[in-house]
Amino acid sequence: MERTLSIIKPDGVSKGLIGEIIRRFEAGGLKVVALKMIRMTKEQAEGFYQVHKNKPFFDSLTSFMSSGPAVVMVIEGKEVIKKNRELMGATNPREAAEGTIRKEFASDVERNIVHGSDSPETARWEIDYFFPEGEIVEYE
Ligand code: UDP
Ligand code: MG
Repeated sequence: MERTLSIIKPDGVSKGLIGEIIRRFEAGGLKVVALKMIRMTKEQAEGFYQVHKNKPFFDSLTSFMSSGPAVVMVIEGKEVIKKNRELMGATNPREAAEGTIRKEFASDVERNIVHGSDSPETARWEIDYFFPEGEIVEYE
């Protein structure tokens, strides 16, 4: 079974979309195996998005990510990394496919509701960033 990190970003939480997003994961056969609400510090957001530290949007992105509560989750399932990114849609909601989370709910390329890991290596690193092993559960 593969795992990925999902984040409902502060815009998703403030728009009341926690339930809607988890519903889509569960309806898609994906399983939540860890979940918590956090308020990231600016430093924590900068650490999480360090791959983007030289991008022009880095400061604005990390301010946004630390602007309010976010829900971080570990999602498990067959090909979950790819499936989650399909459910999310393209980074820019204007380019996202019909029916995806970002197409339906995101306001712009920065405030795009959800995060999802993009490879098995980044998934492992991102899961470790927020969850000690003991916070991830196994169940049938
Ligand atoms: N982002 C942004 N401006 C851009 C590209 C990305 O503000 O031009 C933000 C957006 O919130 C995105 C995050 O930076 O989700 C990480 O970018 P990435 O390219 O990794 O997109 P993702 O993997 O989230 O689809
Ligand atoms: Mg990414």
